[in-house]
Amino acid sequence: MNFSDSEIVASILEKEGFDSTKDIRDANMIFINTCSIRDHAEQRIRKRLEYMQSLKKKNPQLVIGMLGCMAERLKTQLLEEEQMLDLIVGPDSYRDLPRLMAEVESGKKAVNTLLSIDETYADISPMRYDSNGISAFISIMRGCENFCAYCVVPYVRGQERSRDAASITQEAEALFHKGFREVTLLGQNVNSYHWTWDGKEIGFAALLEKVAQINPLLRIRFATSHPKDLSDELLQTMAQYKNICKTIHLPMQSGSTRVLDHMNRGYTHSQYLERIVAIRSFLPDCAISTDIIAGFCDETEDDHKKTLSLMEQVGFDYAFMFRYSERPDTLAADRYQDNVPPEVKDRRLREIIDLQQKLSYQSNKKDVGNTFEVLIEDFSKRSKAFFSGRNSQNKVVVFPITGNNPGDYISVKINRFTSATLIGEAS
Ligand code: SAH
Ligand code: SF4
Repeated sequence: MNFSDSEIVASILEKEGFDSTKDIRDANMIFINTCSIRDHAEQRIRKRLEYMQSLKKKNPQLVIGMLGCMAERLKTQLLEEEQMLDLIVGPDSYRDLPRLMAEVESGKKAVNTLLSIDETYADISPMRYDSNGISAFISIMRGCENFCAYCVVPYVRGQERSRDAASITQEAEALFHKGFREVTLLGQNVNSYHWTWDGKEIGFAALLEKVAQINPLLRIRFATSHPKDLSDELLQTMAQYKNICKTIHLPMQSGSTRVLDHMNRGYTHSQYLERIVAIRSFLPDCAISTDIIAGFCDETEDDHKKTLSLMEQVGFDYAFMFRYSERPDTLAADRYQDNVPPEVKDRRLREIIDLQQKLSYQSNKKDVGNTFEVLIEDFSKRSKAFFSGRNSQNKVVVFPITGNNPGDYISVKINRFTSATLIGEAS
């Protein structure tokens, strides 16, 4: 999501005559794009700011700006604390950058963190400045209003709004004609996408179908699906189109209905499991990944065991696992106590990670001997004698180079695997 925002900002700045550089030390202006979702992310950004301070000491003309969620959350406090910041712009105010930069040039500090109810940047074609030329992100909606108790997103990214469907398909089509072969449609809760197109209401399944129809050689991925809104209609659409990748990211957060209720997630343990059963029946070869939070307020040992057992029952292919960190202004910060001791959170997280490693190992192991269609992305990071790409299930596949090029599809038979990669040969 943040990366996608950076591409929008780069496009706005390019129109103003700015160029980008790969070496931060060459820059006259640095924008740091920030995320507030976890406390850890904010701490890392503060470290990065310290480094920029050292650059500014060498070059006092250097302009330093902050974009994104942390800019939204900390606003003026940051300008006062971090004297070296010249400009702060929230996620809905990027169009205002030219004016803000003029203010900075006239010697002032500039801030705009107003949130909007309708900004989607639909007409801005993002600049793909750090791209492999094969896969790209397309933002289809902004904001969120689910108000999960732990989550800061609704406060820093504002109300949920969907982007004009025609502008999404046009962007995907333009990318395809430029040689891109994979787009990932992004939103905090893509299943609640809605738009009126030619007088007809369309939801996410219909949007996905329209993008899938652009060309069978264009692969489509999407994130994130909220378990409470994942419909059978969507699963049917996925089954119908080979170019819609067979992978679903379905954050479970916890395996305990009591904790899920506390988190305001809108589903129970058995409803989550019922969605998994639906995925498996419509899409038998679909990979399923998830997000899990360890040590949310009032989480007991029994709740934690339920998380472990649900993980095992589902057999996730991949998971992002987090230690709960209290975020200011959220429902949990206002109403609950962050009362699971840090060492207990750490131990539970460790157990979750250990189990996931086992599940990911099993998931990779069962792929050995199978043949997958792989979209070649680049040479492997380790060796130019190997190509690297991904299969429909989003696993990285590495194999000895053939006469093909990045952007081509190729069948690869898997012979072995490491924790993060399947290794095979063209078949
Ligand atoms: N919209 C997506 C998730 C966006 S945030 C969804 O609803 O699934 C990405 C992940 O960060 C979340 O799924 C959650 O697991 C984690 N996360 C969010 N807030 C957190 C917090 N305060 N502490 C720890 N993890 C958090
Ligand atoms: Fe946060 Fe919940 Fe919205 Fe995801 S759905 S962004 S976790 S509030």
